Amino acid sequence: MSTIPDLATLHALNAAQQPTYPDRDAVVAATAKLRTVPPLVFAGECDDLKDKIAQVARGEAFLLQGGDCAETFAGVTADNVRNKLRVLLQMAVVLTYAASVPVVKVGRIAGQYAKPRSSDLETRDGVTLPAYRGDAVNGYDFTPEARVPDPQRLVDVYNSSAATLNLVRAFVTGGYADLRQVHTWNTDFVRESPIGQRYEAMAGEIERALTFMKAIGADPDEFHRVDFHSSHEALVLEYEHALTRIDSRTDQPYDVSGHFVWIGERTRQLDGAHVELLSHIRNPIGVKLGPTTTPDDAIALAAKLNPANEAGRLTFITRFGAGKIRDGLPHLVEKVTAAGLEVAWVCDPMHGNTFEASSGYKTRRFGDVIDEVQGFFDVHRALGTWPGGLHVELTGDDVTECVGGGEDLLEMDLGNRYESVCDPRLNRVQSLELAFLVAEMLRQA
Ligand code: PEP
Ligand code: MN
Repeated sequence: MSTIPDLATLHALNAAQQPTYPDRDAVVAATAKLRTVPPLVFAGECDDLKDKIAQVARGEAFLLQGGDCAETFAGVTADNVRNKLRVLLQMAVVLTYAASVPVVKVGRIAGQYAKPRSSDLETRDGVTLPAYRGDAVNGYDFTPEARVPDPQRLVDVYNSSAATLNLVRAFVTGGYADLRQVHTWNTDFVRESPIGQRYEAMAGEIERALTFMKAIGADPDEFHRVDFHSSHEALVLEYEHALTRIDSRTDQPYDVSGHFVWIGERTRQLDGAHVELLSHIRNPIGVKLGPTTTPDDAIALAAKLNPANEAGRLTFITRFGAGKIRDGLPHLVEKVTAAGLEVAWVCDPMHGNTFEASSGYKTRRFGDVIDEVQGFFDVHRALGTWPGGLHVELTGDDVTECVGGGEDLLEMDLGNRYESVCDPRLNRVQSLELAFLVAEMLRQA
C-alpha cells in the first residue's frame, strides 16, 4: 500500500500560497470532518479520465477544459451550473463536428474555490486587509471580518462541490446532454448573434445526420449522454490532503475531491508541498507552465510527478502569453519531447494575457487569446507534436469581462456586467466564437 505524507510534513516543505488560519483548533475540526465525508468522485472515474488524456497525449483526442476562474458559494445555483455546462457542451460539439476529433470534456467546476494571489494583502483607500483567496479561504467583501481565513469554509467547499457535481451528473446522463438537444442548447442571446446562427446551421446538419442514423437503426448510447469530468487547482493543502483516500480496488491514494487536479504556476516548486502531495496521488494531474519555465524544470517535474512515464497521467498546461509563446514554447516542447516524456500539451491562453483596463477592471483581449492559441498550434505543427487541448476561463452568461470578439466589447463596456471575483472570463458568445476558430485550427493540425 502506498502512503501519503502527513500534513505537518507537507507544511514543513515549501508550502506556497497557504492561508494563515488564526484558529488552529478550527482547522483541526474542519479537517477531521472532511476526513469522514464520502468521496466526490470515484477512483475508477479518475482512471477513465486518465485513459482519455492518454489519447490526448498520443494525438488521438483533444481536451476542452473550462469554467470560472473562481467559483463562489453564491454561484451554486441551477441556472449558473446549467449555463456553464451548456456552453461547454456547445463548444465540445463544435470542436467534435467541425474538426472530427474526439473531445475530452473537463470543467473547471465543482471544486475551483481557492486562488493563489500575487500579494497577501490588499489596500483600498488607505485600508489594508488580507487579500481575497477564494471562497475556500475567506470572504470577498472588503471588511476585516470577511477577510479572516475560516477553515469551516473548506467544509462548505465540499458541500458546494457535491451539490454542483450532483447536478452536473444529472444533466450529463439524464437527457440534457443528449445530442438531439443540440439545438436547444443554443438559447436566448446567443441564438441571435452571428456566431449563434453559425452554430444553428451546424446543429441542423447534426440533427439530419442523427435522423438518418436513427432511420437505419443506429442509436448508440453515446448519442444520449456525455462523459464530463470535474477539475480544480489543488491549492489548499488541508482540503486536498483530507480528501486523499486509499482506493479499495488498487490500494493506491487518489484525491477524491475531483477527477483532475492541477498545480498552479505559483506553486509548482520542485521541492514544494504541492508537487510532493500530487506526486503521491494516482489521479490524472496537470501543471501550469509559465514563460519562465526552463526545459530542465519541466523535465524534473515530469520525473517527480510521472516517474513511470505513463501517458495520461501528466498534462502540461502552458500559459506564456500571446507575445511570448512563439519564442518560448518551441524550446520547451522540443526538449521535453527529446527526453521521451509522455505528456499532453494544453494551451491556457488566458493567464499570460491579463491586463488592467484604464477603468481599473482586470481584463483580457479576445484577440490576444486567439493569438496565443494560434501560436500554440503553430509551434506544435512546426515540431510535429500534438496541440492537445485548450484550458479556458469562461462562463455561460452574457458577462462583460474580456474585451473584443465579434460583438467587439469595449473597455468602457466592462462595467456593464462584470461579475468575476477573480480573473475575467469569456462570455458565452466569445466562448462559442473561440470554439469555431479552434475547430478551424484543429482541422489544419
Ligand atoms: C488560474 O488558473 O486561475 C491560475 C491562477 O492560473 P496560473 O496558475 O496559471 O496563474
Ligand atoms: Mn484565473
